Amino acid sequence: MKIRRVQFMCLIAILSLVFSFIPLSPVSAAQPNIGVLIYRYDDTYISTVRNALSAALSGKASVTMQDGKGDQATQNDQLDVMIERKMDGLIVNMVDAQAAAGVVAKIRAAGIPVVFFNREPDLNVLKSYEKACFVGTNAADAGKMQGDIIKALWTGHPEYDLNKDGKFQYVLFKGEPDNPEAIARSEWSVRQAVAGGVTLEQIGQTFVCNWDTALAQQAMESALAANEGKIELVIANNDSMAMGAIAALSSVGSNLEGGDRHIPVIGVDATDQAVDAINRGIMTATVKQDGEAMGQAVSAIILNMIAGKPLLEGTALQFDDSGVAVRIPYSPYRGKE
Ligand code: CA
Repeated sequence: MKIRRVQFMCLIAILSLVFSFIPLSPVSAAQPNIGVLIYRYDDTYISTVRNALSAALSGKASVTMQDGKGDQATQNDQLDVMIERKMDGLIVNMVDAQAAAGVVAKIRAAGIPVVFFNREPDLNVLKSYEKACFVGTNAADAGKMQGDIIKALWTGHPEYDLNKDGKFQYVLFKGEPDNPEAIARSEWSVRQAVAGGVTLEQIGQTFVCNWDTALAQQAMESALAANEGKIELVIANNDSMAMGAIAALSSVGSNLEGGDRHIPVIGVDATDQAVDAINRGIMTATVKQDGEAMGQAVSAIILNMIAGKPLLEGTALQFDDSGVAVRIPYSPYRGKE
């Protein structure tokens, strides 16, 4: 009897192992195959979109997702495979938005509907194919919200003017040099604050840190060493670089939890890490890119496209003036200051 029970338990164990390899929601033949090309899996914000996208498509499509690893040549190869496999729809997060013309040409030749997101192809490229559209944000808006936050900090906190010269001395961390979002955020954060009456003075060059925490930390360490006590504000194009700046600040005893020395740090994205840092008082503010809303929008549009329905049917979304792009709004996230 005992042996039988052991055999039975073994059988259960084997069966559960076997079933663990079978997808929980088996894909029926009616479900479309959707290929998703992501520029980098290790980008924190994109991971939020990726997860939202997977959740929104779950049970509605069979999804094949690929990591471009920050390399456009790799992504091109992945696209070729997706086209060869005759995907019903494609979702593309370009590694290099400037390479979109070639990508669209290939997809157009195959006649597959495509939704680009986050990294924006040129409008003329999008318009060159009737089954292409884009879901993103209005790049300038994130910068403008940062500018509004800077103004609020400056007017509400005279103590941030460390040298009492009536100017806000700042360092600026920029994403990839040619990235349209990085360019717009860098420009509009400063322009909006200046338009709001803040006198800004940049310390050093703009630190081009490719959205990367480690690069930003190194740059901030150098900046702090060269400009001791002179930096009054950190503006970063994204939260990952803001976190790098905070790591450098903490190494010189600033921006510590419960500490008394704080330099305001402003990012973009509202990553979990940044929201946590803001709630703990070691970071000041961020601008939320609603990754979940973006993932849901991309999912809804590609399913409509594949079904031959109007693109925005069943959604509350609207096209912008271009007629081919949907903009997900930003919102500011600030802690208790
Ligand atoms: Ca000052």
